[in-house]
Amino acid sequence: MSIDLKTDGRFYEPEEMVRANCQDCIGCCDCCTGMGDTIVLDPYDVRMLKNNCGKTMEQLLQQGLLSLGMAGGLILPHIQMNPETDCCPFLSDEGRCSIHAYRPGICRLFPLGRNFEDGKLTYILLTDECKKQNRSKIKVSQWIGIKPAEKYHNFILEWHTFRKNLTALLAMSEEARIKEILMLVLKTFYYEEWLDEGDIFAVLSEKIKEMEKRLGMGYTTE
Ligand code: SF4
Ligand code: SF4
Repeated sequence: MSIDLKTDGRFYEPEEMVRANCQDCIGCCDCCTGMGDTIVLDPYDVRMLKNNCGKTMEQLLQQGLLSLGMAGGLILPHIQMNPETDCCPFLSDEGRCSIHAYRPGICRLFPLGRNFEDGKLTYILLTDECKKQNRSKIKVSQWIGIKPAEKYHNFILEWHTFRKNLTALLAMSEEARIKEILMLVLKTFYYEEWLDEGDIFAVLSEKIKEMEKRLGMGYTTE
């Protein structure tokens, strides 16, 4: 993926149509190779992987499927490309995603990107990134494919805001405190198991609020 990403200049709402539909990527797996540490996972992504792969966070790391790395000043998990093939470890020999139904949010989005501005989340179309010609139009929320779409959208915005505010807090903290907070966030959102009684987004939202309160971050949504 290039660093200078081109878009069509538009900012799409979740219910708008966008020319992103590459017809199931048939015959192409370009964005499943050579992605480095860019497929950063949020707590929902990891929860889906753990539940559907039947593995703990520790096992996902030990088995070389995920790694931990720095992302925006935090230690967060990302998909670990196979060091020999430079392919995603979830890419099958047939060039298909073996975890398609519970693949991470970043994989779902492509060739869309997220735009966070003025406390709002919209979507952009990365016009030169998908190799597939003649992409058809599809509703943004349908392309992402996580239900309920509105709750997922709100979670992504809340998680982004939390990360941004946390980064600001860390910038003002002593080294020992920074380590403590980074470990606490990893443990709470990625390692720990929790019950959600069918509404994972409500649980995640509550966990974010609890963490904000615990760290004295307030409830800003900017
Ligand atoms: S998780 Fe699936 S869609 Fe995402 S990079 Fe890996 S193989 Fe591709
Ligand atoms: S480049 Fe486009 S068609 Fe190819 S895998 Fe990525 S999204 Fe699918």
